[in-house]
Formats: sequence, C-alpha cells, structure tokens
Amino acid sequence: MAEVILKDVSKVYEKDVLAVNKANIEIKDKEFVILVGPSGCGKSTTLRMIAGLEEITEGELYIDGKLMNNVLPKNRDIAMVFQNYALYPHMTVYENMAFGLKLRKFNKKEIDERVKHASDILGITELLDRKPKALSGGQRQRVALGRAIVRKPKVFLFDEPLSNLDAKLRVQMRTEIAKLHSKLEVTMIYVTHDQTEAMTMGDKIVIMDKGDILQTATPLELYRKPKNKFVAGFIGSPAMNFIEGKIISEDTLKFQSINNDLIFPITEKYNSLLSKYINEKVTLGVRPEDILLKEYSMSESNHVMKVSLDVVEPMGNEIYLYFKISENQIVARVQAVDDLTDGKNIDLMLNINKLHFFDNKTEDAISH
Ligand code: ADP
Repeated sequence: MAEVILKDVSKVYEKDVLAVNKANIEIKDKEFVILVGPSGCGKSTTLRMIAGLEEITEGELYIDGKLMNNVLPKNRDIAMVFQNYALYPHMTVYENMAFGLKLRKFNKKEIDERVKHASDILGITELLDRKPKALSGGQRQRVALGRAIVRKPKVFLFDEPLSNLDAKLRVQMRTEIAKLHSKLEVTMIYVTHDQTEAMTMGDKIVIMDKGDILQTATPLELYRKPKNKFVAGFIGSPAMNFIEGKIISEDTLKFQSINNDLIFPITEKYNSLLSKYINEKVTLGVRPEDILLKEYSMSESNHVMKVSLDVVEPMGNEIYLYFKISENQIVARVQAVDDLTDGKNIDLMLNINKLHFFDNKTEDAISH
C-alpha cells in the first residue's frame, strides 16, 4: 500500500518565490501519476517535497495516512530517479545498485538476490561488472532505475529521467518504465515537461502552471475536456488552434471570427452554454485533427472553409497544412495526399461537433 496525499501544500522559497500554491493531489496505491507543465511551474519542487528533499512551507503531506512533513527522507520509503542518473563513477553497476542496501545493513545474500532480480527485470545482467563510464546513456538510466528497484520502496519518484536520452531511446524507455510500473505494481510519480511523455505514460496527469494545479485527469479526459485554454494548448501535438471571435445570434447562434473570415452555425450541443455569450467575445479552440480535407469528410454537418495554404508540411502518412484565419496561424493535420502545395486554395472541413470555446476573460472552457 502506498497512497500519497498532498493537502493544500505550498512552497515559498526565499525572496517570496511562490513555487507551489496550495497543491491538492491524491495519488492512489499503485497509480502512475505524471506531473507536467512548462519549465518553472513547480513540478520538481512538488516532487522534492514528497521526497523530503525540500521543506513544505504550508500544508500537509500524507503517505499511507501518515503525516510526513517532518519525517526524514530516508524514513519515507521512497526512491527517486534523477535526470542525471547520479551514479557513483568509481563503482561497478553491481556496486552502484547494492550501495543503498549496504548502507541499510542488508546481508550479502539478500543484496545479491535483489540486485540480480532487478538487473534481470531491466536486462542489464551482462553489465554488472562495468563502471558507468563504459555504459551508454540508456544503460546508465537503467542502472539508476535498478538502484531504485532494489530498495523495494513504497513510492518511486522520477524527475525528468529521460531528458538526457536521444529521441529514439526516450520512446523506448517510456514503454519500459510503463511496463516496469505494471510489473512492480507500485505507486509512481513522474515529472516531465513533455506532454507526449505525460500522455503516453500515466494513468493520471496533473497539469501545473506558475505554481498552480490547473487540472487533474486521465490523458483522454485532458485531451477531450480541457478545463481552460492553457491545458487545451498544452496537451496535444500539434497544439490546439485558437481563433478569436464572438457569438452572434441571427436565425441561429453562430460563431464569427474577428475578421469575419470564419462564420458557422453553432451545433445544438453547444447552444445552451453559448447562448449566454451572445455579442460577447470568445475564443474558439480547434484541434488540428478536427480539420479535414473535404474529400475525406463524410459528415454533412461539417462546415466548409475556403483557405489559402501558406505551407504544406509532409510528415509521411500525414500532412500538416498551415494557413491563416483572422490573422491566427492555423494548422490542420490531414491524411497525406499528393496534390497539395504551398499557395494552393482549397476547401477544408471544420468538424463543428468537436469544438472548444473559451471565455475571453477567465480563459476557462465554456463547453467541450
Ligand atoms: P519545474 O520543475 O516545473 O521546472 P521548479 O519546481 O524547479 O519548476 O521551480 C519552480 C519555481 O521555483 C521557479 O520559479 C524556480 O525558479 C523557483 N525555485 C526552484 N528552486 C528554487 C530555490 N532553491 N530557490 C529559489 N527559487 C527556486
């Protein structure tokens, strides 16, 4: 069992830097939770407070129902894996993994069993006699993981563990860590600034910005129902397009972009929420995948947009199309076809059943 609960946890550094502002997070036993957000949003500080490496200024941290605020890091039954691996260069892989257990006075047999078991899980058995300098980045990261695994902690904490790896290895290690989570059946808390990592790895994602938690949800929920404009723009790649405009009421409710170059009727599902915004400014959010090529669009209810393509970016099986609506740079992610070139005028379809609208003042989502 390892349930981690943060209740109104804040961190103020010297000179009044409010790094974390009343964070409330509930992490269930065996859950894999990702803290994600741009650099400086307070993710590492949150993780370090859980580990006990940083004092909690205000609020309470519970692990398995026990208040941890004043418990020393070594007594929290937590293991942390860092970005820089933090391996001892003069020790072999075996010694690096065994070190923490030796300090805790485990006997030789137990240490040997645990190191062998962990190296087996991680596929590094042949490397046990090597020193870190004779390892690749990916292998070093596995040793760092191994060092955490041998301790059989209640909670694993990861601070951007894959940032130093090249893109291909990062993708591979992502899957390995996710597999490790299901194999070990432990609670894991993972910090990253990379939304793709967050979306592909975690059961639950906590999105932070400027010390605040903006939304906590499953990856799919965040993608489908972002609570505000920040979350909407942060999750998804390429990012959601935003178009400013207003809601007008003619024979029906309509969205009208500022330059009048996009006007379409609001579908019934958004009607009641948007009727409060008649003649008010709102921001429309459209995911690049919800703009389609006309010939591939089945639905009659889609809205046709005539656009002039600025740039056509082939990605293999897909193409990214860049164009402008009311001076906003828009990107559409469509199926690859051959006849699209820069400067061409084409018809695109806007899936008007998959839109997002945001209040211009609060930036909160009006509807999903
Ligand atoms: P993240 O991990 O999301 O990049 P951090 O938790 O490292 O963000 O930092 C959050 C905020 O706290 C930033 O504004 C950062 O400059 C500040 N900060 C982090 N560590 C310290 C420190 N030791 N002293 C003062 N300010 C700090």
